Amino acid sequence: MDFTGKVVLITGAAGGIGKETARIFARQGAKLALVDLDTQELESLAKELELEDYLLHTADVTREEEVEQFVQETKKKYGKIDVFFNNAGIEGKIASILETSSAEFDKVLNVNLKGAFLGLKHVMAIMVEQRSGSIINSASITGLRGAVGLAPYSASKHAVLGLTKTAALESAKMGVRVNAICPGYVDTRMMEAIEKGKAPMHANIVREQTEAKVPMNRYARPDEIADLVLFLASDHASFITGSHYVIDGGLLS
Ligand code: NAD
Repeated sequence: MDFTGKVVLITGAAGGIGKETARIFARQGAKLALVDLDTQELESLAKELELEDYLLHTADVTREEEVEQFVQETKKKYGKIDVFFNNAGIEGKIASILETSSAEFDKVLNVNLKGAFLGLKHVMAIMVEQRSGSIINSASITGLRGAVGLAPYSASKHAVLGLTKTAALESAKMGVRVNAICPGYVDTRMMEAIEKGKAPMHANIVREQTEAKVPMNRYARPDEIADLVLFLASDHASFITGSHYVIDGGLLS
């Protein structure tokens, strides 16, 4: 897949999936705008990729003025946005509903849902105007089923699918496609945090048990998720919009 000259904006770009997606888009010739809270990780990624032309932006996706700023900065620098990987997310504290505070609930929904909404809103405006673009939202298999100990996370990812479908309906006639990915367990910091949250002293056992539930017997590698993002961003997916793609090694089968 060739993305030469294409402008790709990624949030959560310093995380496991975001970073790998940036690497693969860069290899395919894309111009990158990378957003995260973690400036240091963004800088080390840019250094590693040896890009001549890129944009790094430290921003919080829950703050509308910051979202507006990184979207406008990307448009100003490159003149367009072809692909938006709306990917920043947090897992929240592992706790039952009875043990989850409303502040914790708000925190997760704020990043995973409001953050996704704000990115969608401001990038869509540009894509509708240019009458082209592909948006990929990071949902999860927990957007399709419950997850013990992760109620706010699961609720937020269900909601991301609602956003995805509505955004697709509202922008299809303007040449914009909006889809979501629903990964199962992916080998990143997030799964490590979930393992530790479930059993602080026995995270390795939780991992073994979790992997055993997957028909393919392992977690996904971040590059396997990135490949799906690239496909959905590409012209090979030109008739796909409003869809979600499960990528879980057979877990939901
Ligand atoms: P990660 O923790 O490695 O990366 C998430 C990134 O988002 C981090 O770099 C973090 O700094 C950034 N971020 C968090 N809050 C932010 C905010 N307010 N503003 C800007 N950036 C912020 O996790 P990951 O596994 O790479 O997850 C990426 C996405 O994939 C998330 O939306 C996650 O819910 C989803 N997902 C992950 C898995 C998994 O098993 N790892 C499975 C399904 C879906």
